[in-house]
Amino acid sequence: MPIVYLGVGTNLGDRAGAVAEAYARLAAAGQRLLVASPLYETEPWGLLDQPRFLNAACAIETLRPPHALLALLKHIERDMGRRTTVRNGPRVIDLDILLYDAIEINTERLSIPHRGLLDRATVLVPLAAIAPHVRHPLTGRTITAHLRALGPITGIAPYPPGLG
Ligand code: AMP
Repeated sequence: MPIVYLGVGTNLGDRAGAVAEAYARLAAAGQRLLVASPLYETEPWGLLDQPRFLNAACAIETLRPPHALLALLKHIERDMGRRTTVRNGPRVIDLDILLYDAIEINTERLSIPHRGLLDRATVLVPLAAIAPHVRHPLTGRTITAHLRALGPITGIAPYPPGLG
């Protein structure tokens, strides 16, 4: 069964509750949650004047092909109260497909691997916690190697503070 890595982000309301609810909704929709990363509190990226995010990553087993999985993620986002938002702006929940086995897709609606994967520590840090040795299908390098290539990491802390 395909293994998919998802990125999760939230910066409005009960952020830790939103991550847990997203996982529960994925499971309720038949997606098998294999592992979830710790939570990280991160500085906003792109649009700076907004609350800090919680970011996480998880691995699921899915029978849904990529576009059907994207449709499920969008459905969960809407059900959890997400409204249309500005790019990189505040959101109750954001669910992204980071990796889908070694599949490569590049359409207007869906890019896999996710386009932001290699240059965002907010995505790579949680992913490296659960998939350090997984290789990016386009570069052939591991997630850990890509994280190291970013250089010193700032603006990311384990959550709740004091953990890790
Ligand atoms: P976002 O603001 O992160 O919710 O993304 C906005 C749009 O990006 C979505 O509506 C998708 O059509 C598109 N998109 C492209 N690639 C991906 C991906 N790998 N995972 C999730 N959304 C994606």
